[in-house]
Amino acid sequence: MNHQQYEDWLFTYYDERSKQRLDERLSSTQEAELKTHLKECTDCRILADAWQVVDTQLSAAPLLGPAPGFVQRWEQYLQVDRQKVQRRQTVLVLGFSAFGVVVLLASMLMLMIPLIQSPKALVWAGVYRLITWISYVQMAQDVVLPFFQAATSSVPAFWWLIFAGLLTQLGVLWVVSYRVLTNPWRITQ
Ligand SMILES: [Zn+2]
Repeated sequence: MNHQQYEDWLFTYYDERSKQRLDERLSSTQEAELKTHLKECTDCRILADAWQVVDTQLSAAPLLGPAPGFVQRWEQYLQVDRQKVQRRQTVLVLGFSAFGVVVLLASMLMLMIPLIQSPKALVWAGVYRLITWISYVQMAQDVVLPFFQAATSSVPAFWWLIFAGLLTQLGVLWVVSYRVLTNPWRITQ
């Protein structure tokens, strides 16, 4: 005997939603036939018992609502998550800029190698460089920093990453050409 029909009926019998629709309900003859089959067939009886357990569990289990303050906690979680992303982007920008500074310093150091042969010139170049950097830092504090602070709040960190990268590369290019053009070895020749 094919059990498929009875299995379908069982499913219909225990499905809450189909019970609400008359056209999908089992007819009284089908129900009687199913019950007769369940007495004879062990396989279908096991299935019916399993369905009954599931059905009881489903109707007994209350629909769990979220604990009080769920929305507030979710918003807090989002806030923390957003802060984490922002921190990660800041670290990325700073790391990228630091890398640019290292490249800058390394290229400057390489250009200073000819000066190492005359230590006095190296000292003066160092002093000059220090003074230049101090004035740059002061300029940055006075002009660039307020602008940067105002801009960072409105421009996404991604664009600052690209901007910082471009700026660093331009800086390297400028320093390299500046050093090549003002190389004392080149001037004295
Ligand atoms: Zn059966």
